[in-house]
Amino acid sequence: MDEQAARAALAEAARRTVALGLNRGAEGNVSLRWDEGFLITPSGLPNDSLQAGQMVYMDLEGGWQGPLKPSSEWRIHRDLYRARAEAGAIVHAHSPYAVSLACLRRPIPAFHYMVAAAGGHDIPCAAYATFGTEALSANVLAALAGRRACLMANHGQVALGRTLDEALRLAEIVEELAAQYWRARLLGEPVLLTDAEMAAVLARFADYGQPRT
Ligand code: 13P
Ligand code: ZN
Repeated sequence: MDEQAARAALAEAARRTVALGLNRGAEGNVSLRWDEGFLITPSGLPNDSLQAGQMVYMDLEGGWQGPLKPSSEWRIHRDLYRARAEAGAIVHAHSPYAVSLACLRRPIPAFHYMVAAAGGHDIPCAAYATFGTEALSANVLAALAGRRACLMANHGQVALGRTLDEALRLAEIVEELAAQYWRARLLGEPVLLTDAEMAAVLARFADYGQPRT
């Protein structure tokens, strides 16, 4: 992929967060590892009209070029690309059910086997800190230890993947799970899978689907 194609793919992914119901307006942000750093969506512009030329290149020191300011959450993206070699793309979203559960400041437990899609036995919730701060980035990185997605207290969710498609799909799964957990809790107390049952799911996920080429 050349840089123009990478910028176009990132802008398309940002637009898709709106089409998928994960974000509205300028909520959330998306990034793609690129060259020695990453491309990230600009701050405060509506996702559904973002274009390739508006994507901002940042290095891993936090330097950036161009007329548009990067997302206010660039520290989360920068710190994850530094710490997590497997991260090729990151989606941050204010998806409605994930936000609602994040306001309870509790993890999503193993009420459904798909919770393992985030890499473990639950989907943790990062501790609260003001948006755009180093403190929030530290909290998100801590919550993502051993996981590919987490909730963010009183804020939203973060999902990472090897590709934009993977990160977007995981953010969608987190939102689906949050909605399903919400509905199950309305009916009663969901029966949680045991650690052994979740370990079996994680083992199955290791070779689930088609082999990667
Ligand atoms: P940006 O528009 O700066 O990316 O901010 C949106 C957001 O979700 C802040 O947490
Ligand atoms: Zn946000």
